[in-house]
Amino acid sequence: MTAYNDLMSFDKTTQALSQVAGRLGWDQETMMPAGAVAQRAEEHGAMASVLHGRRTDPRIGAWLEAAEPTDEVEAANLRHISRDYARNAKVPERLAVALASTTSRAHRIWADAREAEDVAAFLPILKEVIALRQEEAAAIADGARPYDALLQDYEPGTTEAEIAAMFDALRPGLVALRAAVLDKPAAPSLDQVFDEAGQLALSTKLAQAFGYDMSTGRIDKAVHPFSSGSGLDVRITTRTSPRDPFNCFYSTIHEVGHAAYEQGIDRAYLLTPLGRGVSMGVHESQSRIYENQLGRSRAFTGWLYGQMRDTFGDFGIADEAAFYACVNRVTDGFIRTEADEVQYNLHVMLRFDLERALMAGDLLPDDLEGAWNDRFAADFGYAVDRPSNGVLQDVHWSEGLFGYFPTYSLGNVYAGCLHVALRDAVPGLDADLARGDTKAATGWLRENLQRHGGLYEPKDIITRAAGRAPDVGPLLSYLEAKFTEIYGL
Ligand code: ZN
Repeated sequence: MTAYNDLMSFDKTTQALSQVAGRLGWDQETMMPAGAVAQRAEEHGAMASVLHGRRTDPRIGAWLEAAEPTDEVEAANLRHISRDYARNAKVPERLAVALASTTSRAHRIWADAREAEDVAAFLPILKEVIALRQEEAAAIADGARPYDALLQDYEPGTTEAEIAAMFDALRPGLVALRAAVLDKPAAPSLDQVFDEAGQLALSTKLAQAFGYDMSTGRIDKAVHPFSSGSGLDVRITTRTSPRDPFNCFYSTIHEVGHAAYEQGIDRAYLLTPLGRGVSMGVHESQSRIYENQLGRSRAFTGWLYGQMRDTFGDFGIADEAAFYACVNRVTDGFIRTEADEVQYNLHVMLRFDLERALMAGDLLPDDLEGAWNDRFAADFGYAVDRPSNGVLQDVHWSEGLFGYFPTYSLGNVYAGCLHVALRDAVPGLDADLARGDTKAATGWLRENLQRHGGLYEPKDIITRAAGRAPDVGPLLSYLEAKFTEIYGL
């Protein structure tokens, strides 16, 4: 077993360095002085160079050849390392470093362009990022479709065709439900300022109610909420909006879902390939089930209503039923991250179609804004008013994350499947949630999914936990039932 042990020992250092690189990213979003951008790009590039050297070290190939797994944990570790090694060995170091430093610079240029509503200022660096990712995709694709190659970075085992089929199955039901809901009188909305200190205090209480372990985590503010890290250092960020405290509360619950997954993984897998969430889609299934099926449920919003009245006094919503409708309000809007459950996946479909056209070279960056605006008007029935509400709203493309967007919808579909199984397994769930108690729900998710980390492949872990192969049916049924009740369809 020397080969296996040598390999795992070498990989552990790589995993630790990778966590350090991730923390540089966390710092860039939360703490870094604005003037440090150029130096940080160098630092990212240096880490990428070190990591690339380790991930393509020829000794890995020799160890993989000699290692014989003796159980399913060892087999899973070897599977991950072997897949990553095969991928990374195809990417020249020059390209890996260029991707890291270019996307690090692109992030600031995107943020400034978004602030200035200036798409033209973003286009030159976007073209660089696209060209680099196309080059990388071509290198790792092995003759397969480049977009399929990129998808593997986020959702191993899935394909563009499979996702397109999932969207084809989802879309008609969502479009019909959206039309029916928007035809009804609007749900009540909030109409006052909620002080920031109150929002942050209740946000922290929500994080703890959902089981976020503050002894191995922390909450900071960021422009875009995110979670980062694994194992014993899993951090989340949130944001506040004076008139929209739900933005803060549900961002926090969402990120806690991600963080709880990482914190819930078996500690024996710390700093091994199994010690991280297995895919972005499975990750998103946790954040979305925490945020939506649990956090936006009738039972839990009843508890939240009381908490908000304790924190902010009377805020103009008459009772729990009106509050439930308010939390789940379906309304026009431009922003994906603020979209309700009915419309969220339509925002993702738009991005999926545009980014696969960009990667295939069928859509040129110069034509991206026009294509976005045309598609948005066709899907939502009104025109994008400014780039920060349109093509510049998301950070992903500046970071080169082509292939990432569809995993959000995959996560919603997985969450729909898990929710059915969770309800079967925990019959008293609503009584718990009505007291703000999520222990049974999060405990079920930890036991059946989170603790396994990377042990099983994405579709396999969902199938094991949900007791069925993933499909769109449960999500559509859940949405139809929920919004039929709220809007009296
Ligand atoms: Zn998420």
